[in-house]
Amino acid sequence: MSPRFQFTLHATDGKARTGVIRMRRGDIRTPAFMPVGTAATVKAMKPEAVRQTGADIILGNTYHLMLRPGAERVARLGGLHKFMNWDRPILTDSGGYQVMSLSDLRKITEEGVTFASHLDGSRHLLTPERSMEIQRLLGSDIVMAFDECPKIDQPRDKIARSMAMSMRWARRSRDGFDAGGDHAENAALFGIQQGALDEGLRRESADALRDIGFDGYAIGGLAVGEGQEAMFATLEFAPGQLPADRPRYLMGVGKPDDLVGAVERGVDMFDCVLPTRSGRNGQAFTWNGPLNLRNARHAEDTGPLDPRCTCPVCATYSRAYLHHLIRSGEMLGAMLLTEHNLSFYQQLMQGMRDAIAGQRFAMFAADFRRDYFAR
Ligand SMILES: [Zn+2]
Repeated sequence: MSPRFQFTLHATDGKARTGVIRMRRGDIRTPAFMPVGTAATVKAMKPEAVRQTGADIILGNTYHLMLRPGAERVARLGGLHKFMNWDRPILTDSGGYQVMSLSDLRKITEEGVTFASHLDGSRHLLTPERSMEIQRLLGSDIVMAFDECPKIDQPRDKIARSMAMSMRWARRSRDGFDAGGDHAENAALFGIQQGALDEGLRRESADALRDIGFDGYAIGGLAVGEGQEAMFATLEFAPGQLPADRPRYLMGVGKPDDLVGAVERGVDMFDCVLPTRSGRNGQAFTWNGPLNLRNARHAEDTGPLDPRCTCPVCATYSRAYLHHLIRSGEMLGAMLLTEHNLSFYQQLMQGMRDAIAGQRFAMFAADFRRDYFAR
């Protein structure tokens, strides 16, 4: 039987790392990009097509699934994997971040967060214990600790108080997860470092998490509007504060150039809605930078989205056709651009994994930036 959770580093190049996480439901090659399957679907994609892009793992959202269709209902239907027909690993977030960003009438106390659903206004309480229970009911493979993601531009003492509470919630998450019986024996739990852009607070948070002990460690509280320069400045120190023998997951990131810069600084895992959301909005990512398919210059372009891309969309459809679909509001346009974008992201991750294994990551990153930002 596959191990519950085993992270093996195969090569490092500078701070960049490549390896594999072995889990019961399959291997996750790192650096890894996880497509976001918010409401038990990676929007506009069948699960088998998501797998064909090269994804080893997807992300599900606790906040959305607890409200609709409900965690208990998913459990009665056999769990999230069976419900949505994805048999490989699923990481679920804790709900904390989305409660802060999507719900109304939030009240945060030491106990947890009381909020009103953005769907129907119904009142809910999300605590570390309930978040662990929901993620267990969903059948998550990688469970995220429940934390508070504070706004980044607050005074240091407010960030410090929020981080300290998140660390107490991390302890309660650990205990709640460990009480999960069978699920705890087959799944993994990640802690989440907070502390905004502050090196000292990030250090305190990392030490608190290490004392509790987790299978992997996420860097939370970034990609919330601070900008790439500030994010990279924080990533100069944050990954190195976390245990080197565990995967490091940068939550909610990002653009292709964010991924390259974060891998360069020692990050192993990512998730982001960008490739799927942009695909629905007519934007394609390519090795030569992003393209807006609404633009009239594509109207009679018989070439592919990206001549270097190996995806079925680029092998089959012209920019002119995709432009037409997007301009006409046809759902196939969203489907094809999403498929290409997810494929492109996975090709980028594969390129980084190969470059790290071949000890040529610096050259890969330089070539990537030259082409991506060439205009
Ligand atoms: Zn493509």
